[in-house]
Amino acid sequence: MLRGICYLSSATRPFDEAALEGLLSESRRNNAHSGVSGVLLYADGDFLQYLEGPSAAVDETMLRIRGSRRHRGLRVLLDEPIEQRVFADWWMGLARPTRSHFLALSSASWKRAAAAARQPGSMPPGLVLLEEFWSGQAGSTAR
Ligand code: FAD
Repeated sequence: MLRGICYLSSATRPFDEAALEGLLSESRRNNAHSGVSGVLLYADGDFLQYLEGPSAAVDETMLRIRGSRRHRGLRVLLDEPIEQRVFADWWMGLARPTRSHFLALSSASWKRAAAAARQPGSMPPGLVLLEEFWSGQAGSTAR
């Protein structure tokens, strides 16, 4: 079973480019190995990360993420079974949205209405917004 998780957290101290690149290369190595894909957004010390993959692999990855002292205040916005991957090509993409984009994504609804949840292929509004944001960014971001 595939599962998708999205969370918010705050860096314990601000990440510069080198720290972000270091985090990204560790994450991509692990994720490629365990079959987890997704994207990481960083804005002014705050993270929003969406992960998807086999449920057990997502659990293992979340254990690593929860154990990291590089961030705190982790708050899960979404944790549910998914039918297919949204970011299948990304072992972990990185984007640095503007504050207003970040706020729009973090305050979007990440729950589907009960009727929508029964529709095959439906996605929570927050995930639709994240996919739209990513489509506008992806050309300029390394995998
Ligand atoms: P950590 O507890 O992370 O800390 C290591 C050291 O970094 C500490 O000494 C600390 O003082 C120092 N540090 C703290 N803040 C900073 C900073 N801002 N800049 C530089 N150094 C700092 N793992 C995956 O497998 N896949 C993922 O997709 C994934 N995504 C992640 C996303 C986020 C936002 C974070 C924070 C972690 C993520 N991880 C992911 C986990 C990561 O790859 C490591 O496994 C995890 O951070 C544990 O690493 P660590 O043992 O170095 O300890």
